[in-house]
Amino acid sequence: MIKTTTLFEIEDRHSSGAYGKRPTALVRGDGVYVYDQNGDRFLDATAGQGVAALGHCHPAVVKAINEQAARLITSHESFYNDRRAELYALLAGIMPADLSRFFLCNSGAEANEGALKVAKLLTGRAGIVAAKRSFHGRTAGALSLTWTQKYRKPFQAWLPTVDYVAFNDIEAANMAITEATAAVVVEPVQGEGGVHPATIKYLQALRERCDQTGAMLIIDEIQTGFGRTGNWFGFQHVGIVPDIISVGKAMAGGLPMGAVCWRAAHGPIDRGTHGSTFGGNPLACAAALAAITTIRDEGLVEAARDNGEWFIDELAGLKLRGAREIRGRGLMIGIELRSRVTPALKALQEAGVLALPAGLNTLRLLPPLIISRDELTVIMSAIRAVLG
Ligand code: PLP
Repeated sequence: MIKTTTLFEIEDRHSSGAYGKRPTALVRGDGVYVYDQNGDRFLDATAGQGVAALGHCHPAVVKAINEQAARLITSHESFYNDRRAELYALLAGIMPADLSRFFLCNSGAEANEGALKVAKLLTGRAGIVAAKRSFHGRTAGALSLTWTQKYRKPFQAWLPTVDYVAFNDIEAANMAITEATAAVVVEPVQGEGGVHPATIKYLQALRERCDQTGAMLIIDEIQTGFGRTGNWFGFQHVGIVPDIISVGKAMAGGLPMGAVCWRAAHGPIDRGTHGSTFGGNPLACAAALAAITTIRDEGLVEAARDNGEWFIDELAGLKLRGAREIRGRGLMIGIELRSRVTPALKALQEAGVLALPAGLNTLRLLPPLIISRDELTVIMSAIRAVLG
């Protein structure tokens, strides 16, 4: 076995430098737990950055990947494929209304790139409106939608112009969205920006203004999708139907996959206007089939809603001295701290719980949807010990 210190040295010498790394080498996962090289166990309330909705190495996903890997791993979408067809049918079944046209890709940022292209193709317009405090990814189009200056600044010269408006500000959105707008892009709960849910009125107003102007309403469901917020998709809390949604993260049980989904009423896009070598490969499709059917059959969307409500209530009841505000929807939970988040994350990890930051002073929890109340209680006790 490679020594932990050697492994750190190799990664530090050769990896891009783009990531700040925690000094822990995770080598195994099982359900809600991950294990380091020494066999130390951590309760993973990051779900691998919101990906492992079913926990790590869920048997249904492992089985599907193993079987498909032995059958056909790669096949471009210029041919038909059994697993892909099954996935399209499954996705169309869980999507509300006629959100049943899909472009399959390999990540969240790619899904947002695709969503922008689809909006431009369908409207023939160029304008883009996004929200302040947003995060939509790091490739050029997705980065242009991302508010945080530190991500965007070095690349600004390459990025399309985007009109940023304050999140949850209806008047500002109504002013910014015009007949020249192709796309309005928003997260139903801003994740990286600090776990801020969009208000019902705000999303309804965006829908109305897009209807008036002919702009496409794009909801970024990359972090919120597939049950995380206690509905299949975050926009379903509001009772609107977007024109386009982007998904990723939890879609394929841990394998890289994303998708652009849009309303059938808008029709298909023209041949050759978009494409991807790996998009819709049978291996990822098989994993997604297993992951999504498991989320559905094990009632994990409802579990996320019930457990999330319970957890947020219990947490609020603790009246933590170090917490300014608790926000969230379902099992997407943010605790705004009175201080910087990094020391709290370190202390939680020492107590055996992995959590995420969301901005400088918000602690974010994205536990696997399979988590039990006992396991949530373990997280809560660790938080109480750290935040008083
Ligand atoms: N959009 C949202 C809302 C996200 O949370 C993320 C990732 O955290 C992305 C887009 C980008 O996804 P990816 O890292 O898969 O490119």
